[in-house]
Amino acid sequence: MPITPTPKIWRNGQLIPWEVAQTHVLTHSLHYGMGAFEGIRAYPTDSGPGIFRLTDHMKRLAKTAQIIQIELGYTVEELVEATKAVVRESGLDTCYIRPIAYLGYGEMGLNPLPCPVDVVVACWPWGTYLGDEGVANGIKAKVSSWKRHDPNVIPPAAKVTGGYINSSMAKVEALKGGYDEAILLNSQGYVSEGTGENIFAVKNGVVITPPTSAGALEGITRDSTMTILRDRGYKVVEDNLLRSDLYTVEELFVTGTAAEIVPVRSVDDRDLGEPGPITRLVQSVYADTVRGKVPEYGAWVELVKG
Ligand code: PMP
Repeated sequence: MPITPTPKIWRNGQLIPWEVAQTHVLTHSLHYGMGAFEGIRAYPTDSGPGIFRLTDHMKRLAKTAQIIQIELGYTVEELVEATKAVVRESGLDTCYIRPIAYLGYGEMGLNPLPCPVDVVVACWPWGTYLGDEGVANGIKAKVSSWKRHDPNVIPPAAKVTGGYINSSMAKVEALKGGYDEAILLNSQGYVSEGTGENIFAVKNGVVITPPTSAGALEGITRDSTMTILRDRGYKVVEDNLLRSDLYTVEELFVTGTAAEIVPVRSVDDRDLGEPGPITRLVQSVYADTVRGKVPEYGAWVELVKG
């Protein structure tokens, strides 16, 4: 999806013009893929733009940095304020936000420890990630021939740039095969997640999502979904799913900041039917929640204007 520039990008403590935020071709992370990043969304609320679970996203960025041993040099609170400033400067009330901490220019070789760390927060307008048709009627998914990377290869708890080679290869395979999205199994054969989304199934009335130990990212939309459903009386469990479950469950949907809540209409050409009632419920409550319309989750919406 093309990027539309916005006025300012925050880099290493300063707001700089979008076109000035360039990096050298010998930037370390460009070569070895070691960067910590996040994907966040801002939505319009009655009190101006609100950033959904901004602090939780920045806490996850700090956790990623801790795992891969990058010194962010900024506290979660400082990164929260930086993000609010970028969104404020953009003049947008709906946007996608991309914080990234990467190893900059000055060193080469596989020891990242001496490298300078650059920290950046940018935002731009971004529509529905998996398409309006997918949101309305469900996407066509394919189980990837690529396996999710093992926790002892690249820890899925770390949202690290290099790990996304795995997701991108699976995504390309799915798109070239005529599908909208890939679902990755882990090396034990259990369902892990989508390329940029967690996955939920409804089986015998119980809502099931794979545990993070199955190779799934600790998704913030996943957590919001579990909370929304539990608060409405549904039984939600973290449990392994088999590939064959994907063909037979009552409902299947994916969750993610970019994708939001999207029904899965078919997996490997096995039709699952129209999006079901639990999927529709989460879609609707989530859409209201991110726009600050659900008082019980008001604390999740962090207003840009303070
Ligand atoms: N899994 C992967 C691999 C992802 O990249 C994402 C997007 N960050 C998710 C799941 C969903 O996470 P979240 O709900 O925090 O956006």
